[in-house]
Amino acid sequence: MSQPTIENIVIVGTGCAGLTAAVYTGRANLNPLVLDGVQPGGQLTTTSEVENFPGFPEGIDGYQLMDNLRKQAEKFGTRFEQAVVTEVDFTSSPRRLVCAERTILAKTVIIATGASPRMTGIAGEKELYGGRGVTTCATCDGAFYRQMEVAVIGGGDSAAEEALFLTRFASKVYLVHRRDALRASKIMAERATSHPKIKPVWNSVPVEVTGVKEGAVSGLKVRDIKTGAETILPVKGVFVAIGHQPNTGPFAKALDVDENGYFRPAAGSQVKTRIPGVFVAGDCADHVYRQAVTAAGMGCQAAIEAERWLAEHGG
Ligand code: NAP
Repeated sequence: MSQPTIENIVIVGTGCAGLTAAVYTGRANLNPLVLDGVQPGGQLTTTSEVENFPGFPEGIDGYQLMDNLRKQAEKFGTRFEQAVVTEVDFTSSPRRLVCAERTILAKTVIIATGASPRMTGIAGEKELYGGRGVTTCATCDGAFYRQMEVAVIGGGDSAAEEALFLTRFASKVYLVHRRDALRASKIMAERATSHPKIKPVWNSVPVEVTGVKEGAVSGLKVRDIKTGAETILPVKGVFVAIGHQPNTGPFAKALDVDENGYFRPAAGSQVKTRIPGVFVAGDCADHVYRQAVTAAGMGCQAAIEAERWLAEHGG
């Protein structure tokens, strides 16, 4: 019987972190295998224009950026495979990744599975998501709403932060929250609620994003949960900020995760885990910055650590 192949490096995820790790490890002649998950290209593929990735003064389409990064990884010999990891065994050496399709063995693993923004599920949200007015990232899309009215949904630190950031561009920011007090930290909550451009809409749940027929957001219908009254906020942009869900499920038992499910790296490192040769990168291990460029940076760090690990332990 032939011996099963043992990969040098398996990278799980094809967002900015995973593909940057692929460019680095590919260029180091390590012949990485990258597993494409359920959303190849990650969150950026659902954004239209990316204006803050260094090196693109005119901005670049999110899909195009990820396509470029993928080609760059391919140029250095990266292999891609469509496989969804369902379970892992990191107690064995080589490490085992059980996928729906097959089981993969690897000396080192870089997990870059990202995080998915939580959505409200209201009518019109899905249809108008990504370039049509519904978004989950003020840093990415805020600048498209100069002198326009926008709404932020949520009451946590993210919602407060998004609302404050949006005041730089928007003429008015409605902060729609289902209760009468923000969950955000006191300082953020005070900053947001006292800002002259931010109008809190308390005790209100979003009901519908209007504008599906026109193909662009024309308003956000909200319901006052105390009175039952429905109003349409006349906004052109809807920023959903009700938290993120890190895609760490199949790995959560084998590695350390925090109370929100994000990977908790080993002390003194952003990308090392308690399992030798297993690294994490990007939004699955970062709930603070969550930027394409920081994810790419972590992908680079993880790649260099994996290279070093292989050099020491035999690659
Ligand atoms: P979060 O703290 O979980 O807040 C989510 C908010 O969305 C809550 O106010 C929640 O309402 C609301 N919400 C949840 N589901 C909803 C739904 N279906 N419809 C309407 N509203 C809904 O999430 P987060 O703000 O993203 O923060 C996550 C973590 O990152 C937190 O620990 C936060 O402190 C941290 N963070 C820190 C910073 C910073 O320090 N600068 C910035 C961002 C995030 P309820 O309040 O009623 O539950």
